[in-house]
Amino acid sequence: MDGQTTPQAGNARQTAAPPRESRVGGIDKARRVLKRVYGYDSFRSGQEDVISSILGRHDTVAIMPTGAGKSLCYQIPALMLAGVMGGPGIGMSIVISPLKSLMRDQVSALQAVGVSASYLNSSLAPEDEARVMADIAHHRVTLLYCAPERLVRRDFRELIAATPVALVAVDEAHCVSQWGHDFRPEYRQIRDFLETCTPRAVVAAFTATATEHVREDIVSALGLRDPAQFKTSFDRPNLWFGTKKLPRRAKDDWIVSFARDHADQSGIVYCASRRETEELADALAQAGINAAAYHAGLPDERRSAVQDAFIDDDIRVIVATNAFGMGIDKPDVRYVLHHNMPSSIEEYYQEAGRAGRDGDPGRCMLLWNDGDVSFRTRQIDNTDREGDMPDADRQMLRTSRHDLLNAMIGYCGTTGCLRASLLGYFGETAPRECGNCSNCDGEFESVDVTREAVQVMRCVQDLGQRVGKGTVASVLHGAQSEAVAKRGYDRAPSYGALRSSSLPFVKDVIAQMVADGYLAVHMSNGAYPVLVFGPRADDAARGDFHYEIKREAAHTGSGGSGRGSGSGWRDGGMYGASSRVETAKLSDPELFDRLRELR
Ligand code: ADP
Ligand code: MG
Repeated sequence: MDGQTTPQAGNARQTAAPPRESRVGGIDKARRVLKRVYGYDSFRSGQEDVISSILGRHDTVAIMPTGAGKSLCYQIPALMLAGVMGGPGIGMSIVISPLKSLMRDQVSALQAVGVSASYLNSSLAPEDEARVMADIAHHRVTLLYCAPERLVRRDFRELIAATPVALVAVDEAHCVSQWGHDFRPEYRQIRDFLETCTPRAVVAAFTATATEHVREDIVSALGLRDPAQFKTSFDRPNLWFGTKKLPRRAKDDWIVSFARDHADQSGIVYCASRRETEELADALAQAGINAAAYHAGLPDERRSAVQDAFIDDDIRVIVATNAFGMGIDKPDVRYVLHHNMPSSIEEYYQEAGRAGRDGDPGRCMLLWNDGDVSFRTRQIDNTDREGDMPDADRQMLRTSRHDLLNAMIGYCGTTGCLRASLLGYFGETAPRECGNCSNCDGEFESVDVTREAVQVMRCVQDLGQRVGKGTVASVLHGAQSEAVAKRGYDRAPSYGALRSSSLPFVKDVIAQMVADGYLAVHMSNGAYPVLVFGPRADDAARGDFHYEIKREAAHTGSGGSGRGSGSGWRDGGMYGASSRVETAKLSDPELFDRLRELR
């Protein structure tokens, strides 16, 4: 971390509103609360700015990575605004959170230090719910955690209309955005709910998602009023990042062998399905490693037992679905391995970020293969099964999820520094070479695919930007299928242009071109993904265009060779010194013009 918060362009407020702030106290008092209630000596990077802004009663957006300590940024102002730390009380605070287990944990932690906190969600028994409602009515609640569904209930709104509310904190605020990785339609109700609080409460939104789209959505969908915006650096210099493309079996072997080599360390392995967590936990146990599976299908008691044993180091490795991790705070997790590719960089970074919270080195390795890409793509196409929403919304949601996935694929395939790629995604510039990731370590080879990439661009153009990746690959490969012939694609000028390359190789090139922005995937008629030119298509039509993709070195790491490392992936042994393509070919003026025209 650079130790600084960056107020976002143009919007940051430098001027607090002294009269109101001084009523409840300022940052010095906040520091005393930090010590007295939580026992911490100092604020972490970014916390002070955010707390001051809320105490100054400004709407606030705080973008801070996982583990940065966002909860304290609303809890401390909540205590001060309720007057429980001395001074006048303005009202209670409402925290909107999508995570039931987190609510319960935070509320018990607050109660343990003497704070009057409660929660309302669907897991409460009716009598407990009635008790919480009565406590609110009698102004006995300082901090109320609340599920977003609750906000639309009439009884709740009536109660809130009659209760002074000083602050509404929206945790995981990216859930309000269709461009986020975890869109929850209920979050759209928040804006309307805010009208219920009179006088209007200060609104503070928190997220670890830093893309510009999401940030803008948070501000507009919550109806924030000229908010002060803060963002802390997302860099985690103590973490090493790696990616590796391996077939399914080889992934398991790699993980077992890694865990064996690090038997005295705690680690988390993330899998995409419950079944995989069980299978891999078994494989690890058979190798003599103290491992356990963790997923939402296990009984509550089992899950808390596993979690406790992990915190106490009785279990060394947790093999989990993404149900594990929220609210778990184990500082000395030394590695986080991904058995599959997550569906977005946000998710990946959040999960990987659970390594090395104590500041000591942590290793984060992402294993992936084409099966993962298909699996995640299918998941997106199943968006149809998700609740009721207008078609236009569903289409937009799908498009944004494809974009998120493409960025993830781009990270897996990039030949550049992985840290630079991650930080670039979060809108930060990083040193081009961090020297602390698998790409900087040089654990890969790259293949020059300039010629192939140009042919792909040509083919996409030949076929009128109307067909999907599979068809483009088949046409380039010169497939003699009925589907190709029926549509006359075998007469396209680019038909068979990459005849000597294998089909999987051509698909890999296309996938990486999408990830790098030369191509983009659009939904045709809201249903069918087609390849079109991406924002960087012009670059590919330039004479000096040069393009490489990553190929895993055949001999790195444990586990066998991936498809990418066997012969026959690119073509019959073409890979090597002879694969350099003269860029002269690219100045083909016709192609140049045609690519231009279509932009
Ligand atoms: P986030 O929501 O940003 O992911 P949390 O609010 O869950 O992070 O905080 C992560 C951990 O950091 C918690 O255990 C919290 O108690 C701890 N923490 C937060 N602020 C401080 C601080 N100023 N000093 C020490 N520990 C802190
Ligand atoms: Mg949090």
